Amino acid sequence: MSFERALRCRECGREYDLAPVFSCEFCFGPLEVAYDYDGIRESISRDRIEAGPSTLWRYADLLPCDPAYKVDIGTGYTPLIDAKRLARAVGLKQLWIKNDTVNPTWSFKDRVVSVAIARARQFGFEAIACASTGNLANSVSAHAAAAGMDAYVFIPDDLEQGKVVGSGVYRPTLVMIEGSYDDVNRLCTEVAADHNWAFVNINVRPYYAEGSRTLAYEVAEQLGWRAPQHVVAPMASGSLFTKIWKGFQELHKVGLIDEPHTRMSGAQASGCSPIATAFQNHTFNFVPQKPNTIARSLAIGNPADGYYALKVMDETGGGAEMATDEEIVEGIYLLAETEGIFAETAGGVTVACLKKLVASGAINPNEETVAFITGAGLKTVEAVLDSMDEPIHIPARSAAFDEALRARNARVPAGVGA
Ligand SMILES: *Cc1c(COP(=O)(O)O)cnc(C)c1O
Ligand SMILES: [Zn+2]
Repeated sequence: MSFERALRCRECGREYDLAPVFSCEFCFGPLEVAYDYDGIRESISRDRIEAGPSTLWRYADLLPCDPAYKVDIGTGYTPLIDAKRLARAVGLKQLWIKNDTVNPTWSFKDRVVSVAIARARQFGFEAIACASTGNLANSVSAHAAAAGMDAYVFIPDDLEQGKVVGSGVYRPTLVMIEGSYDDVNRLCTEVAADHNWAFVNINVRPYYAEGSRTLAYEVAEQLGWRAPQHVVAPMASGSLFTKIWKGFQELHKVGLIDEPHTRMSGAQASGCSPIATAFQNHTFNFVPQKPNTIARSLAIGNPADGYYALKVMDETGGGAEMATDEEIVEGIYLLAETEGIFAETAGGVTVACLKKLVASGAINPNEETVAFITGAGLKTVEAVLDSMDEPIHIPARSAAFDEALRARNARVPAGVGA
C-alpha cells in the first residue's frame, strides 16, 4: 500500500505510469514521483507516526514504495543533537545537528537506498546497481546483501580505503573506474541500458531521491512538529538539498506542521563548487567543474539537481558557501571537539560553511539552524591522519606515564581544549 500516483516531468508536467524510468520522453526533463496527498492527509497523523518503528519506515505513508518490499537494516530516525558548544563556537543562539553518521552504513545514503531497493524489488528486479562517489556504493552493497540480491557497484578508482572496504566487505561486484564520478556516471548510463538491473541513481532515481525527504520529516517531528528557521546541508548532485525543502513543504500539505519558512543554505567544497559558485554569481546556470577536493563524497562536477538546488535557495532566501580542503579539516575537528561527533569530509564541509554563513551574516545569530551531518569520519581517516596530536607512546610502566604526563602538561596546560 502506498500513495504514489504517477511520475511527473519537472519541466513540462507530463505524467507517466510508475515505471523504472527517469526522464521525460518529450523534453528530457527529470521525472519526480507525484502523490495522492489527499489520501495521505486522511491516513496520516502525528500519533500514527509516533507509534511507528524507530526507522524511516515510520513515514511509510509518504514513501513511493510498498513497505512490504522493504529491506530494513535500521535506517533513519537518527538523533537531533542540541549542539550548544558548536553553536557558541560559530556564533549562533540555537543550533541542532542532525547526526546521520549513525545509519547502518554510516551515511545518509541508507535513506535513499532503503526506498530504492524496496521499489526495485516491487518492480521485480533481481539485481541492484549504482554509480557512486563512495557512500552510495557502501549502502547499496549492504542492502543488497541483506536482501540476497546481486549488487554491481561502480566507483572512481581513487576513493578512500574506508569507502572501498565499506563496500567490498558485503561482497558486491565492485567496479573501480579510471576517472572521476562524472566518468563513472556516464559509463553507468550506458551499462544501465544493456542490463536489467535497478540502477538506484539512474533508472530508479525518481524513487531513490524521495528517500532524502525523511530527513526533513524527522527533523520536524524531533522539533515537536515544526520546521526550523534555517538549514545548512551539503550538496553533491543537489538532490538531498532540494528534497529536505520538499519534505518540509509536504508535511504542511498533509496537515502535520504550519507553513514552513525555512531558509535553505547549501555547502560545497571549493574544489567542486559548481552550485555554490553559480549562487554567488547570481545565476541559475552552473558551469560544470573538474573536481579536486578531499570531500570525495561531494565531488560531482556536473550536478543533476544543481539547477533545482539554486531555485530552492532563491525561493527560500537561503545562501551557499564553499570550503577549502584546509577549512574542511578544521570543520571536522571543530565538530569533533565541540560535540563529540566524528564526521567525514562532507561533514567538515557543512560545518566550515555553516561558520562562514554566520560570519558573513547570511545566517542571523538568532535564527534556529539545523546542520545536516551526512557521513561518518572513520570512512575518511586520511583527511585527519596527519594533523592529529601526537599520542603519548610509552612502555607499560606507571613511572613512564608520570614522566610523560609531566612533560605533556609542561607543553599543554591541563584544561586546554576542554
Ligand atoms: C551523497 C552525499 C551527499 C549529498 O548528495 P546529493 O547528491 O547532493 O543528494 C551528502 N553527504 C554525503 C556524505 C554523501 O555521501
Ligand atoms: Zn517533460
